[in-house]
Amino acid sequence: MMDKRLRDVIDSIDYYELLKMKQDLDTGGHHLRTFINKEIENRQREHSVSCSTCGSHIEPSSPNTQTLIFGSSDFKKKATFCGKDCLSYFLSKTEEMKKGQMPKTMNIHDGNQP
Ligand SMILES: [Zn+2]
Repeated sequence: MMDKRLRDVIDSIDYYELLKMKQDLDTGGHHLRTFINKEIENRQREHSVSCSTCGSHIEPSSPNTQTLIFGSSDFKKKATFCGKDCLSYFLSKTEEMKKGQMPKTMNIHDGNQP
């Protein structure tokens, strides 16, 4: 994702949209507030994940969080881990998976659905 600041966003909005935003803000900013609330909700849902190995809740901002995307391009899987230990445990388990033993404790998300 691009790291855009509000300044950049405002710069890139066309004049008509800006007028609409100003009008909205002048009347209490309800539209903008709803819009932002929805976006925050969406992103929190996106980040509300648990570790694929140990199941503990993952803090999205934690520097220890590891995300692994694997599988073929049309069948992507995403796994998130609370730390490197859980990631390497998972990788050792995927070796077993290749041998046909699907570990039951794994909780793997579809890459397109958080
Ligand atoms: Zn873990």
